[in-house]
Amino acid sequence: MTISFQDRVAIVTGAGGGLGRAYALELARRGAKVVVNDLGASRDGTGTSDAAQQVVDEIKAAGGMAMADGSSVTEYDQMQAMVARAKSEWGSVDILINNAGILRDKTFAKMEPSDFELVVQVHLMGAANATKAVWETMREQAYGRILMTASSTGLYGNFGQTNYGAAKLALAGFTKSLYLEGAKYNIRVNTLAPTAGTRMTEDLFPPEAFKLFAPENVVPAALFLVSEDAPSNAIVAAGAGVVAAAYVTLTPGVALPEGERTPEGVAAAWSQITSREGEIVPNSGAEQGAMALKALQASGLVT
Ligand code: NAD
Repeated sequence: MTISFQDRVAIVTGAGGGLGRAYALELARRGAKVVVNDLGASRDGTGTSDAAQQVVDEIKAAGGMAMADGSSVTEYDQMQAMVARAKSEWGSVDILINNAGILRDKTFAKMEPSDFELVVQVHLMGAANATKAVWETMREQAYGRILMTASSTGLYGNFGQTNYGAAKLALAGFTKSLYLEGAKYNIRVNTLAPTAGTRMTEDLFPPEAFKLFAPENVVPAALFLVSEDAPSNAIVAAGAGVVAAAYVTLTPGVALPEGERTPEGVAAAWSQITSREGEIVPNSGAEQGAMALKALQASGLVT
């Protein structure tokens, strides 16, 4: 089966370098018309450059179709203007990859609230702004594929990245509610936690690993997740050609009898509460609520 993006219109934010550039090049090679969004900022989010135009030039030189957009994902009106331009030029927007990102790494003790806020602004609000700008179009045309970019830091944590981790896990949370709202309009929403050797990670990887973790090795997972047959509500980790799925699981839990609904009762049942035997993956928050009822019924505490 060949996955084609022929006649699809895709927006990739932060596509002036690193992972976004690799997504944009391959989407275009497979037939998509690509909006290459990038402010051209440095790693900490300061400054601007013509990075987006350079990627557009590369795509065009390879025979693809692309337009550059130098706006910032933090500005909702600029995201609206970007979508309007794509629609007037190419008629629709079918795919959105929210990929733009910055770093302001510091221990929490040394982090200024402004460093926390800016990282949340770019990653979380940036994705919300771009998604809001395409949402009505995708609903109207009953087709949309949206990918959020989370991170292993968001899913599992990393020293010195509290701001980044908070923003990144929030994107998985954004996916988990948005996919429910998009389902009846054939809008599928997924989350990708990539690992790649880019300028964002250049001081973390030794040179041999940097090559192994080339952005091109994340592209297959990203493109599958925005393809026609994409799943919805998946959290996928991808790097160095290894693709895995991550889940937010729930243990069966313990139904505390009336007299034991105390902090001491929780302490006494702690090992059973945290036992992963029989854990499940709820498909919505409502399903978690239903699980609690089930646990009460199973224990005979309610009928
Ligand atoms: P990168 O720095 O090469 O790419 C990020 C791009 O976003 C840059 O080109 C930058 O100019 C752009 N950008 C920054 N602020 C912007 C704004 N306000 N508006 C528009 N564009 C803006 O780094 P990358 O590694 O390719 O990262 C891509 C995404 O993947 C990021 O969201 C990052 O957090 C995430 N990620 C990367 C890794 C990794 O291992 N490289 C791991 C986990 C998550």
